[in-house]
Amino acid sequence: MPKGNLFSGIQPSGRLHIGNYVGAMRNMIALQDDYQCIYGIVDYHAMTVPFKPEEMETRIFNCAVDYLAAGIDPNKSILMLQSTVSEHTELAWILNTITPISWLMRVPTFKEKRQQNPDYVNMGLLDYPVLMAADIILYKSVIVPVGEDQLPHLELTREIVRKFNAYFGETFPEPKEYLGKVTKILGLDGVNKMSKSLDNCIYLDEDEETIWKKLSTAVTDTNRKRRTDPGNPELCNIYTMHLAFSKEEDIDYCARECRSAGFGCLDCKKILLQNLYATLKPIQERQKELRNKPDYIYEVLRSGTIRAKRIARSTMEEVYEKLGIKKFHQ
Ligand code: ADP
Repeated sequence: MPKGNLFSGIQPSGRLHIGNYVGAMRNMIALQDDYQCIYGIVDYHAMTVPFKPEEMETRIFNCAVDYLAAGIDPNKSILMLQSTVSEHTELAWILNTITPISWLMRVPTFKEKRQQNPDYVNMGLLDYPVLMAADIILYKSVIVPVGEDQLPHLELTREIVRKFNAYFGETFPEPKEYLGKVTKILGLDGVNKMSKSLDNCIYLDEDEETIWKKLSTAVTDTNRKRRTDPGNPELCNIYTMHLAFSKEEDIDYCARECRSAGFGCLDCKKILLQNLYATLKPIQERQKELRNKPDYIYEVLRSGTIRAKRIARSTMEEVYEKLGIKKFHQ
């Protein structure tokens, strides 16, 4: 028996990076045996920033490939495209009517995105966390595997749930975050979160040579100016990547050698490359296979829509009952 439902989503923003994999995907895979998991390719979210419609189909296809290649099993979990289950936006509208604008104005990602695209500050960008709340509670999720950057959104989801339950009667559980061992990977700049929009990523489908080019110039502990200076692994994004990808003995070895200036940053990065690529190689092999099976990919998504819709419909019936309009939805 599953311990409950869970929803988590990834935007079809092109290619997944190792931050997405470590922060979210890896936990999504691990939770498949214990929960009824619904994993969304959240295309409505991806439309809140400028995009090219002619690229959308490929982006969605590639996102589905990445989910499956990384280990999402469609026999256990539901893989679906958000916009094909219209209940997501139906519920989002209702949640909009109980969410104060002031709550949304203080969300950190809204402030960041507003700065990144000052000419594209649309209602969708402000409303993003409400749609995300709808995504999650539509399936009555009890936990949500996410990276650290999503915590304010999850707190907001719980506040919206409390408000809904208080106004209309107990309906939704308060979802808790499910965080992994490493909750945030910084970009190659060593300062900002690894994020596609900042172009500071290592992507899941990159070959060893490309990754090495990126890793070899990636920023480490900036206080370690010379090879002979001891470093501090706690201040180094390469060490965070070791924690996410390397074997226990390599992690210990690298921390020790760094602290004692026993080796240089390049030596440390070479060990990381081996461990990182050992994780990525089998994923890349499956990506190649799956890209040649478009019929299979579209079938997985079609069946995901049907399965997700069944759960979503039943929640909406309950919501309409609570709102006093069920009679008209029968
Ligand atoms: P992005 O931030 O690259 O646009 P998404 O918003 O689609 O990616 O996020 C998908 C999932 O990946 C979320 O759960 C998010 O917390 C996680 N995630 C994204 N970037 C990172 C990162 N640098 N480190 C850890 N987790 C991350």
